[in-house]
Amino acid sequence: MARNAIATVHLDAIRHNYRLAKAQAPGAKAAAIVKANAYGHGAVAVARALANEADAFGVACIEEAIELRDAGVTRPIMLLEGFFHADELPLIDQLGLWTVIHNDEQLKALVAFAPRFTHSLSVWIKLDTGMHRLGFAPERARDLVRQIRALPKIDDVVVMTHFARSDEPEQAQTPEQIRRFRAAIEGLAVPVSLCNSAGVMAWPNAHGQWLRPGMMLYGATPFMSHNAVADELQAGMTLTSELIAVRDVAAGEAVGYGATFRCEAPRRIGTVAMGYGDGYPRHAKNGTPVLVNGQRAPLAGRVSMDMLTVDLTHLPQAKVGDTVTFWGPDLPAAEVAPWCDTIPYTLVTCLTPRVKRVYQ
Ligand code: PLP
Repeated sequence: MARNAIATVHLDAIRHNYRLAKAQAPGAKAAAIVKANAYGHGAVAVARALANEADAFGVACIEEAIELRDAGVTRPIMLLEGFFHADELPLIDQLGLWTVIHNDEQLKALVAFAPRFTHSLSVWIKLDTGMHRLGFAPERARDLVRQIRALPKIDDVVVMTHFARSDEPEQAQTPEQIRRFRAAIEGLAVPVSLCNSAGVMAWPNAHGQWLRPGMMLYGATPFMSHNAVADELQAGMTLTSELIAVRDVAAGEAVGYGATFRCEAPRRIGTVAMGYGDGYPRHAKNGTPVLVNGQRAPLAGRVSMDMLTVDLTHLPQAKVGDTVTFWGPDLPAAEVAPWCDTIPYTLVTCLTPRVKRVYQ
């Protein structure tokens, strides 16, 4: 029997979450964000699961789009950061991709290549309304829309922006970004797209014509605080492995590298086949919850490359071969993430190829 580190991906849950996203904004379309291998869930499998209903897919680069087209995905695919170099444009045309443009270098290359497009495409103009990562100055929106619309083969022009703090509903930055965006497109009859998952879930006044949900598709809430839509999300992944050793450790002894967990009393310590070589975060603290046969147990000692250790003192029945769950429907990744000083996005996205993906 092989090593049992397995990420079970729940495709029905992902479909449910996509529908939940769309239900927040009846009439709007939604690009399912499947970049970074669908946040670690498997881009091809997720795109196939949504093949009959996703209005489009969003990826980070042309290599990710090629993977989907090679797998037979025929729905529109959008490059969320556009092309990185002008020599990608022939392939964008050949594969019938949509592209974002966010800077003048891309604009110039697009304008120069446009007469050679053989397929019509959708171009999304990204405005920088306050995140200051990508995008044109908002006051250029009007000219840019006019310029892109005048190019041959342009099917549709969408104006978009991206929020920096939409997961913090009490912060003033999102209303300010919405205000700047609205001012930029005032009087322009153009479809718009502002909302990532947190926008979909908490900023209905910004929904516009296109949603761009990512994390929520995979069932994790982007919020630290309660959110009503989050209550309806279903976990997209269960990460499990098994106990490979159990031992009694005497009071006063320490467990693992750096002796970060010292036994104040006799402890029963279980060793699990899961480590940072699988993508489980090395900086998970003592006390990080896992489930052993469905019952909670705390991490005890530092995570090593291939193994980690848990305190089983209160679970005397636990034995070698028992299933250990790191996150899933009964232990949300969003609950585990703060123990590792991170967000659920990185937990699922950073799993390595050594973890077998099983699709349900
Ligand atoms: N839209 C853009 C432009 C993005 O870069 C991302 C991801 O970072 C998303 C949407 C999806 O974000 P989230 O996973 O928070 O829904």
